[in-house]
Amino acid sequence: MQLLASRTGWVSPTHRSLPRVRLLRPGSAAEAVAAHTEEGPDARYHCGGTDLAAQFREGLAPSALVHLGGVQELRSITHTDDGLHLGAGVDHATGSLAPDVVSLLPGLADGWGRIATVRIRFTATLGGNLMARRTRYEMPIMLRALGARLRFLGPDGVFETEPVDLWEDAPPAASLLLGARIPEPGRVRLAYDRSLRPVMTVAVALRETDTGIHGRAVLGSEYRAPRAVDFDLTDHPRDEAGLTALAQDTAARFDDSVGDPVTSADYRRRAAAVLIRRRLQDLLKGA
Ligand SMILES: Cc1cc2nc3c(=O)[nH]c(=O)nc-3n(C[C@H](O)[C@H](O)[C@H](O)COP(=O)(O)OP(=O)(O)OC[C@H]3O[C@@H](n4cnc5c(N)ncnc54)[C@H](O)[C@@H]3O)c2cc1C
Repeated sequence: MQLLASRTGWVSPTHRSLPRVRLLRPGSAAEAVAAHTEEGPDARYHCGGTDLAAQFREGLAPSALVHLGGVQELRSITHTDDGLHLGAGVDHATGSLAPDVVSLLPGLADGWGRIATVRIRFTATLGGNLMARRTRYEMPIMLRALGARLRFLGPDGVFETEPVDLWEDAPPAASLLLGARIPEPGRVRLAYDRSLRPVMTVAVALRETDTGIHGRAVLGSEYRAPRAVDFDLTDHPRDEAGLTALAQDTAARFDDSVGDPVTSADYRRRAAAVLIRRRLQDLLKGA
């Protein structure tokens, strides 16, 4: 129960109590940013609307919705010299089955393919999953492990950030997420573990570079932004004892900020060590 902006009084926040809102339907990314900029910071982009429905129930009352359904340039997946580009408007079902994603990053296809229910997966998008900025959503965790960059169009032009910046240095209002770019997708492998969700999830990526094999483990939580720790696998022993030691060392480097209201930082480091070792073994088996 809350007092809504529609001044309907103390009523349950259902769709019936939503205030009137202007709906804008731009046909391009540039038009979308121009429309949002003109409407001001109380406007919101609307893509699949699956998270916005929850935001409305939480009391959001935007001045306008800028619907992205007509912005075709957000819906593509392309592989170019500077990486694999996943459009912000790609839904979970389409993205996880896209031939480039399946062939270049099977671990991402698998993790993306496990998000949400069938009914939601054909509507909910990558961009909405990221821009909802909810710590429990999973695409920021996997994309951070992969070293992805997020590409935005703002009123001042195009810029890139990292997934962690969604929490640490949020893009200015009216910035439209164009998509995510994963550099050199053929040189990175991902394994994602959500067996302990909602307590925690872990993404592990191994990237081959000219100097060796570098890893990144990312710890996800319902309540905390994803935390990352990098490690080096180049000259590390890869037998069971070696991988156990590497996973324990890596997990031990997550600082106390990974603790959340449900589990202590110590518990999460110990559990993360087990999940990181298992996923490392999977990645090396498939190598
Ligand atoms: C039943 C259910 C189960 C779910 N299960 C999971 C799960 O298991 N794992 C998981 O990770 N997620 C899960 N989700 C969350 C789901 O993945 C997100 O709701 C979805 O991805 C949001 O996408 P959308 O297109 O519907 O976003 P919208 O609701 O349209 O938008 C969400 C937010 O992002 C902003 N936004 C959208 N697109 C852009 C853009 N291009 N640029 C800038 N801002 C933008 C909007 O303004 C809004 O603030 C679940 C959701 C539901 C309803």
